[in-house]
Amino acid sequence: MEYKELAEIYQSLEDTSKRLEKTYLISELLKKTPSEDLKKIVLLLKGRVFPQWHQKKLGVASRLVLKAINIATGTSTNRIEQDWKKTGDLGLTAKKLIKNKTQSTLFFKPLSVNKVFKNIKALPKAKGHGAVDRKIKLIAELLSSAKPIEAKYITRTVLEDLRVGVGEGSLRDAIVWSFFGDKLKIRYNKEENDFDISDEERIEYNKYINAVQEAYDMKNDFAEVAKIAKENGLEGLKNVNLEVGKPIKVMLYQKAEDFEDAFETVGKPAALEYKYDGFRLQIHKNKDDIQLFTRRLDNVTKQFPDVVKVIKNNINSKNFILDAEIIGIDPKTKRWLPFQNISQRIKRKYNIHRMAKTIPVIINIFDAMQINNKNLIKTPFSERRAELKKITDQIPEKIELAEQIITDSQKNAEDFYKQSLGKGNEGIMVKALDKPYKPGSRVGYGVKVKPIMETLDLVITGAEWGQGKRAEWLSSFTVSCIDQDGNFREIGKVGTGIKEKEAEQNKDKNLEGATFKQLTNLLKPLIISEKGKCVKVKPKIVIEINYEEIQRSPTYSSGYALRFPRLVKLRPEKPIEEVSTLEQIREYYQTQKHRK
Ligand code: ATP
Repeated sequence: MEYKELAEIYQSLEDTSKRLEKTYLISELLKKTPSEDLKKIVLLLKGRVFPQWHQKKLGVASRLVLKAINIATGTSTNRIEQDWKKTGDLGLTAKKLIKNKTQSTLFFKPLSVNKVFKNIKALPKAKGHGAVDRKIKLIAELLSSAKPIEAKYITRTVLEDLRVGVGEGSLRDAIVWSFFGDKLKIRYNKEENDFDISDEERIEYNKYINAVQEAYDMKNDFAEVAKIAKENGLEGLKNVNLEVGKPIKVMLYQKAEDFEDAFETVGKPAALEYKYDGFRLQIHKNKDDIQLFTRRLDNVTKQFPDVVKVIKNNINSKNFILDAEIIGIDPKTKRWLPFQNISQRIKRKYNIHRMAKTIPVIINIFDAMQINNKNLIKTPFSERRAELKKITDQIPEKIELAEQIITDSQKNAEDFYKQSLGKGNEGIMVKALDKPYKPGSRVGYGVKVKPIMETLDLVITGAEWGQGKRAEWLSSFTVSCIDQDGNFREIGKVGTGIKEKEAEQNKDKNLEGATFKQLTNLLKPLIISEKGKCVKVKPKIVIEINYEEIQRSPTYSSGYALRFPRLVKLRPEKPIEEVSTLEQIREYYQTQKHRK
C-alpha cells in the first residue's frame, strides 16, 4: 500500500473533529488495507510503530529531524529553523520545503507504508558510535522520496507528535465497521454525520463492539485485534486471552464524594481497602520468570530485585498476573514513606541492591487478573480476592493482601477511613464485590474516598523561558487534559507553587531553582518548537495539580481554566493517555457549581 493513501487520511482526520466521521474515515481505510499492511496501518494511525505496552521508544530529538530535512531538501538548517519558528510545527515546515524542492524533481518512486514503517522502526535500533548519523539517514531517506503531505506526517510521526485525533473509541468502532459493517448493514450518512442501524441490528452491533473491546482489554494492541477481527471474525475475538509477560492496562477507579455516594455507586455490602500512597505494580509470573510493570506499563523488573524475590518465594502459583501497590518503608522507624521516596527507586540504574536496603518496600496485593492459567478478568472481585488469598503466604511488612473489611455500614466505613488515614494512607477504596476487572477504564466498579478536593493529573505541553536569573530555566508550564479523541487540550499555566511546595517540604530556598532546573532538564529534550520565549513540548511529563476552582475560559483550548493552579508532584508512573479527561473536568466543574 502507498503511504500517500495513509497521509491523505491523516489530513482528513485532522480536518474534522466529528468522531463518527473519523470512525468512518478509518473504517474505509482499513477495509482497503491489504492484510500484510493491516497491523502497520493500525499502529501508524495512532502515530506508533510499537504497541503501547512495548518497551521500545523512538526518542528522536527535533534537532535530528531538522538535519534530516536539511539533507532531503538541501535547505540550510538556519532557514529551516527560521521557518520552523514561524509555523511552530516542524511537520508543516518539512511539507513546505519538500514542496519547493519537488517543483524541480520529475520522477518519484512512491513511498510504501512498509518502507516508512521499516525505517521508523529501525530508529531505536541505532545505538552506540554513529547512531545519530544512522538515525538521520533513516529519516532523510524517507523525506527524500516523500511528497509534501507525506513529509508532514513522517516528520510528526518520528517526533511522536502526530496530532490527528484518533481516539481508542474511534479505532475500536472502525474495526467493527470495516470487518463486520456489511453484515450489520451499517450505513454512514456524511451530511447528517450519523449512521443508520435498526434496533435489532443495534443489539448485534453492540455485541461486536464489546467483542472488539474485550479483545483489546486482553491484548492491549488494536493492531493485533484488527488482524484477528479480519481473519478470524467474532469467534477469533472471543478466543483472545491474556498473555503473561504482556502488560495490560490497569483498572481505574472513580472518585466518590462521601460514603453515601460510594455505597450508591458500588452497592452494599462492599469491600473497603486502604488506599496506599505508593506505586502501582502489575506483577507477571510465568514459571520462573517474573516481570514487573508500572502503571505506565514500563518494565521495572531490574529496579526491584527484592520484590521479585519476595514474589517468587511467597506466591504459590505457576503463572499469574496481579495488581499491587508497593510502598516504601523506613527501615529504622518502620514508618511508611510517601510516594516521593519510592519513586527514586524507579529511576535507579546503579547500586540497585543498596537502594533496596535503604528504601525497602511492602507489597500490598489487591487484585488478580490471572492465576494458574485461569483468566479471572470476568470473575467477580470477591472471588478474585479469595483466589489471591489461597496462593499468597503473607508476611507482615513484606507481602500482604491489601487491608480489607467488608461492610454495609457507613459508621464502619468511617472508622476504617480514619484508621487508614491514621496510618498515613491517602484514603480508602470502596469496591463492588460482584464486579469484573475492567482494564483501562474508570467504570465505577470501585471508587476512592480521599479527604482533599480531587487534584488533576495533567500533561505539560508547553512552557516559557524565565526572566532574569531564571532565563536558563523553563518557568511557566502549560498543562493540558485529554479529550475523547486523544487530543491534548490546554487548561492553564502553572508557575509558582513549585517554589512554595518545595520550600515547604524541604525548608531549603535553593530548591526553588532545583525544581525549575529539574523540570527544565526533563523538558528540554522534548521541545518541538520555539516562538519567542514560548516553547511547545512533546506531551510526556505528567504532573499533579491542585487548584482553587475550575472556571469557563475562552483562552484555553479545553474551554476551561484553573484558578490558582499549584504543582503537587511529578507523576512519572502515569501514562499520558490517562491524564484527567475533559469529561472529568466538565464533571468537576458541574459538581463545584452545585456545591456553591
Ligand atoms: P490517584 O492519583 O488517586 O492515585 P490514579 O489516577 O493513579 O489515582 P485511580 O484509579 O483513580 O488511579 O485510584 C486508585 C489508585 O490508588 C491506583 O492506581 C493505585 O495505584 C492506588 N491504590 C492504593 N491502594 C489501592 C487499593 N487497595 N486498591 C486499588 N488501588 C489502590
